[in-house]
Amino acid sequence: MMMGSLLDHLVEITGHRDHDLLDVSVMTALLNMVGVKHARVLELFQSRGDLLIRPRIWISDGKVQTVDEENEHAGEPIVMFPGLVNCIAQRKNRMEEARDDGQHALWIPIWQNDKVSTCLEIVNDTPFSTQMLQVMEGILSVYRNYQSLLDYSERDSLTGLLNRKTFDEKFARMIHARSSDQPSTLSEGERRQQADIKSQWLAVIDIDHFKRVNDVFGHLYGDEVLILVANVLRASFRSQDRVFRFGGEEFVVLLRSATLADAQMVFERFRENVAQYAFPQVGQVTVSVGFASISQETPVVILGRADQALYYAKDHGRNQVCYYDALLDQGLLHADKKVESVEFFFDEPTGS
Ligand code: GH3
Ligand code: MG
Ligand code: MG
Repeated sequence: MMMGSLLDHLVEITGHRDHDLLDVSVMTALLNMVGVKHARVLELFQSRGDLLIRPRIWISDGKVQTVDEENEHAGEPIVMFPGLVNCIAQRKNRMEEARDDGQHALWIPIWQNDKVSTCLEIVNDTPFSTQMLQVMEGILSVYRNYQSLLDYSERDSLTGLLNRKTFDEKFARMIHARSSDQPSTLSEGERRQQADIKSQWLAVIDIDHFKRVNDVFGHLYGDEVLILVANVLRASFRSQDRVFRFGGEEFVVLLRSATLADAQMVFERFRENVAQYAFPQVGQVTVSVGFASISQETPVVILGRADQALYYAKDHGRNQVCYYDALLDQGLLHADKKVESVEFFFDEPTGS
């Protein structure tokens, strides 16, 4: 093994501040240094109470391949991978599995504080040699450490949800991808009329009267409510959707490829789930939700619209879901020239 190439790969691996690029460079290192023919980075996640698994990146035909975000895999139940389930149940760092087709698989969960959200599956025609295992172990310890540093910078430490910085990056990327690959031929008005078109949606969620929770029960109970609301959020949306803690007691959801009716339904169901939840000690807590479609506008404009709908919900009784375009059509809101202009960049988003 050449030291130069090991160092090159190390530099490459630690040069990234992005999970996807980190995955690519680790896969490339496994491919080039260990000669791995088939390997996948799998993501473990919960969706509606099920533990699922989906590939994020893999090696096949001597090349590293990735999924693009729009066609993200919906996930398969983890129980379909008994080798992995076994490995995690025994809290092992790796486990070999001899398969019926004669191949040798190696499961490597990336443990972080007793939890696994990423796992590697490496497949070989022959049993893994000690030398292969040693080199892989070296690459993977760098990966493990780096993964946890990245997680730390992308997530909010109280709720574990993605943080505001990650939202800004993902949202800008999503809008950029949309505007470059599909110039819309429909005007905003036409698009609004087409209820069956699948689109992306942005919702801003704010807990109602949260100050009272803090004032009456104390900050610790307030924090507990935030954690529980985050859990309800995770349980209420599909795996392809993304949930962020935007700040304080505000959350943002990016909903992918849903019709207006679906979007309305899932946001409503989430609101209802929170309203029905018995928060220990505190009792009932409600949320208000404002949402807007992710159009060709800039991130600031779209966020401003969802925010306006949220504040309409706040002003009209709270514990409800409001849709920006519907409020506009009913004459209940007016397109705010200030919000729609660049000026907004220099102001704090209203009421956040
Ligand atoms: P509204 O229904 O209008 O939203 O009323 P509200 O009381 O929720 O008002 P607002 O959104 O302005 O208040 C947010 C409060 O959330 C203020 C702040 O003290 C509290 N808060 C923000 N971050 C945290 C946190 O991390 N933990 C706790 N316990 N409280 C927080
Ligand atoms: Mg609030
Ligand atoms: Mg607030």
